[in-house]
Amino acid sequence: MGKSRDANDERYRERERRDKDYRKQLPGEDEDPLPPPVEPIHVEEKPKRNDPCPCGSGKKYKLCCGK
Ligand SMILES: [Zn+2]
Repeated sequence: MGKSRDANDERYRERERRDKDYRKQLPGEDEDPLPPPVEPIHVEEKPKRNDPCPCGSGKKYKLCCGK
């Protein structure tokens, strides 16, 4: 009965091979597209000259640390 089993094995392998070929056509899922370069966000908190000074003196910035 070994022969018939070999035949089945052959058929099974054939199907597996076709399955692999089919899967090769699909786009790979393990390859992520490179993310776009991200520019570092440079946030500079610059108080306006007429705003209260951030140092907490209560004076306008232009009359305090903004001099
Ligand atoms: Zn100040």
